[in-house]
Amino acid sequence: MIKVEIDEESGFCFGVVTAIKKAEEELTSGETLYCLGDIVHNSKEVERLKEMGLITINHEEFRRLRNAKVLLRAHGEPPETYTIAKENNIEIIDATCPVVLRLQKRIKQEYKQKDDIQKKQIVIYGKNGHAEVLGLVGQTDGKAIVVEKLDEVKKLDFNRDIRLYSQTTKSLEGFQEIVAYIKEHISPEATFEFYDTICRQVANRMPNIRKFAAAHDLIFFVSGKKSSNGKVLFGECLKVNPNSYLIDSREEIDNKLLNGISSIGICGATSTPKWLMEEISRYIKKQIAISDEEIH
Ligand code: SF4
Repeated sequence: MIKVEIDEESGFCFGVVTAIKKAEEELTSGETLYCLGDIVHNSKEVERLKEMGLITINHEEFRRLRNAKVLLRAHGEPPETYTIAKENNIEIIDATCPVVLRLQKRIKQEYKQKDDIQKKQIVIYGKNGHAEVLGLVGQTDGKAIVVEKLDEVKKLDFNRDIRLYSQTTKSLEGFQEIVAYIKEHISPEATFEFYDTICRQVANRMPNIRKFAAAHDLIFFVSGKKSSNGKVLFGECLKVNPNSYLIDSREEIDNKLLNGISSIGICGATSTPKWLMEEISRYIKKQIAISDEEIH
């Protein structure tokens, strides 16, 4: 009998839960509601909310919009978005996660200390172009420097002060590597301060997900391919269990993988809905039952 288990600790973080709840509440009122960008990096959940009436728009469409209601997702937005909303009579339903909001404020404060801004580099360890990172860079009038990986840290000026922050969903390991590199290279005349601003909703899941992935023969990690924390958490699964697969939906499951194994684990990112993992579990159990019938 093949065991199929869903990881209890996988699924939406509180930031995403709150954003979706806000969207659902607004949608039940019957008014038209737009969302600036995908509400969550999961196409299945986006589809579910679309069926409820949520209209997803991009920044270009947002600029052209007038007299409407727009939800801002958990990733947050740069100040420019709020300015446009004001000018275009757009009512904002702000679902920016409080953790992201706090980080935006810290970076803004850092930038506002204008006296030493000329000699100070504000650095964000994050993914270029990611919505949260755009929101953070926006707090500095676009001046913050984004570094995605250790290699890019070399472009910093080590003769000038450095203040390092992190996108909330980056890996702690990667952040520590960057900190170590800067410490080693910073000139004695310059100062270096770093702030670990990684969200514990992601970091705390790592030890658990490693344990979970190691306990099964086969892992299906359910996540949208664009999800940052999905990539990080899936990477942790792969480290301990090379028989791990990143899937967006049950259609991506290769049934051949189910042969000859005794336990399957299903887990996911902070943007993965529980209902989707349950749907995948039901599908796998059905496939196992069909193949058992064929054998007997
Ligand atoms: S991962 Fe953390 S910061 Fe990001 S939305 Fe979830 S709770 Fe907020």
